Amino acid sequence: MENLLKQIESHKSEIAAFSATDANAVEEFRIKYLGTKGLVKAIMGEMKNVAPENKKEAGQLLNEFKLFVENKFDTLKESTANGQQASANAIDLSLPGDTLPIGSRHPVVLMRNRIVSIFQRLGFAVADGPEIEDDWHNFGALNLPEHHPARDMQDTFYIQQNPDWVLRTHTSNVQIREMEKGKLPIRVVIPGRVYRNETVSARSHCFFHQVEGLYIDENVSFADLKQTLYFFVKEMYGKDVKVRFRPSYFPFTEPSAEMDVSCFICGGSGCNICKKTGWVEILGCGMVHPNVLTNCGIDPNKYTGFAFGMGIERPAMLKYGINDIRLFSENDVRFLKQFTSAI
Ligand SMILES: [Zn+2]
Repeated sequence: MENLLKQIESHKSEIAAFSATDANAVEEFRIKYLGTKGLVKAIMGEMKNVAPENKKEAGQLLNEFKLFVENKFDTLKESTANGQQASANAIDLSLPGDTLPIGSRHPVVLMRNRIVSIFQRLGFAVADGPEIEDDWHNFGALNLPEHHPARDMQDTFYIQQNPDWVLRTHTSNVQIREMEKGKLPIRVVIPGRVYRNETVSARSHCFFHQVEGLYIDENVSFADLKQTLYFFVKEMYGKDVKVRFRPSYFPFTEPSAEMDVSCFICGGSGCNICKKTGWVEILGCGMVHPNVLTNCGIDPNKYTGFAFGMGIERPAMLKYGINDIRLFSENDVRFLKQFTSAI
């Protein structure tokens, strides 16, 4: 019994002096004193050596000791938890913040948004459609039957498993899909990516972007087409820009025209951009061919309409002085991060 008392006393002073600075030390304490092979268990085992008349007193002593160790354990646990909390709260507000990289819009997107927003102000809605298209929507319905020579100018990529599927050569497929819906009038602009089987160079790529427009209603005339495009050009290139239409040919419009604007670099006097002509070609347009309307289930005797289409890369190249179309798709951050304006 006396032996037991001595043991407890010596351990008590050792335990009282124990200090812990982190959770690992607290765990060490728990294992050493309160674990299944720990000191408290070992001393409890001493009970069997105590004489029966002292058992009651010894039991009390041991219980007190156990409580003492457990209290110490709780104190240690609490003090280290507070310490960690305190260091977590120690934020230095004078330190500079973490810089988050902010991206910039792609120059093609900037130009697309600018073009689309001008037509939206005229009441055009934005329409979208598939980039993988069937032959009918990309060619056939647009008055480009098989073996039509105009298909040669729009050679594209065919899907091997099904030769009826192509990567669309223009966004005109969406014009067909809008007309097929049968809801008239139609007034939409269609921005999107298109594909051509062309050799990649500084001036041409196997994919690029277009914005097309379509307006179908009763009594739509070429005068409406001109007025719409005049408004667009003045908004896009300024009030002083001059415009001219040149007769052209597209299978899906009749009559058809190319539209030029006076060179906005040299003002019309002639430079490298306009090849000394003073004019820059910006889009193709025309009155929707009656065959196209018929193909889409619209009565050409009742409805007429106009369509136009332009590339996005070329005006973006002129606007930003970019001399190589491949830069748009190379994902070089040094190039892309230069475009932060919201033109
Ligand atoms: Zn010029």
